Amino acid sequence: MKTGVIGLGAMGTGMVRNLAANGLLTAVWNRTGARAEALAAELGVTPAADPADLARRCEVILTCVSRDADVLEVIQSLQPGLSAGKAVVDCSTIAVDSARQAAAMVGGAGARFLDAPVSGGREGAEAGQLVFMVGGEAAVVEELMPVFRAMGKQTTHMGPAGSGQATKAVNQIMAAGINQAVTEALAFGQASGLDMAKVIEVVGGGAAGNWFLQKRGASMVDGVFEPGFKLALHHKDLSICKRMAADLGVALPVIEMTLKHYERLLEAGFGEEDISALFRAKRALFENGNIKSL
Ligand code: NAP
Repeated sequence: MKTGVIGLGAMGTGMVRNLAANGLLTAVWNRTGARAEALAAELGVTPAADPADLARRCEVILTCVSRDADVLEVIQSLQPGLSAGKAVVDCSTIAVDSARQAAAMVGGAGARFLDAPVSGGREGAEAGQLVFMVGGEAAVVEELMPVFRAMGKQTTHMGPAGSGQATKAVNQIMAAGINQAVTEALAFGQASGLDMAKVIEVVGGGAAGNWFLQKRGASMVDGVFEPGFKLALHHKDLSICKRMAADLGVALPVIEMTLKHYERLLEAGFGEEDISALFRAKRALFENGNIKSL
């Protein structure tokens, strides 16, 4: 199954390497060409001249770019290369409406579309251990299972177009709550003068243990916030979740609070850091012996 990938960021790079390891990778394209050239040379494939060229050369076109407008722009530019039988799989996190719009654009060119957002972080992408939550036709999901299996450990068909992204919104609200809990608790532990390596080990082994604590706990208490998952991207996701909650007539506390905290960190220039940079704000609460409000 000839597969091409558009978007070679933190997630796309790991996904591409695993597709190549499984003999599925045909082409790559990235807006910043140097990334595509380096990865194509490493993996022995020819970089595509543009998205339409990639679509012409591949049966499965995987996209993993930043935001809704970026996905729609990429879909627009690959459209001339689409034809019946091809499938576009978008692994970016975007709004349900945007996913449905992308599905209509791809369908208009005679091809099939799946919204297939992922969970598992950069580490999951590198290890081929992603979880895919997929919207679209069940038969297309089934047909593309070799591609999903090359990159992930679990693929769940959620329902029609958009339902993958609706599921991802659930995931992103939960991730915000976990980020709030872990950063606040570890800032408290550090301010209490505890040995934080021991705290992370013992707490991580008990009922409060979780992926985020395990992967980001040690780096955040050391003041290192390399992405990972960029804070600006999680802010984008929570803005989508806020609109979805508003459609249901509610404002959810975890969404509202985390958006507020992220906006302060964005204003301070930390948007390109990992979401664990929320620790900066929690640590500030304890600075100089004064409790400061966030
Ligand atoms: P990233 O490291 O910032 O990479 C973004 C990629 O998108 C880059 O290759 C960038 O190209 C490309 N891009 C952005 N705008 C574009 C446009 N208008 N046209 C063409 N290419 C464009 O982001 P990431 O962490 O890989 O995340 C990608 C998507 O996956 C996002 O929707 C994110 O929310 C989601 N996601 C991320 C994680 C995570 O832990 N990182 C986990 C699950 C889901 P350039 O190289 O030219 O900038």
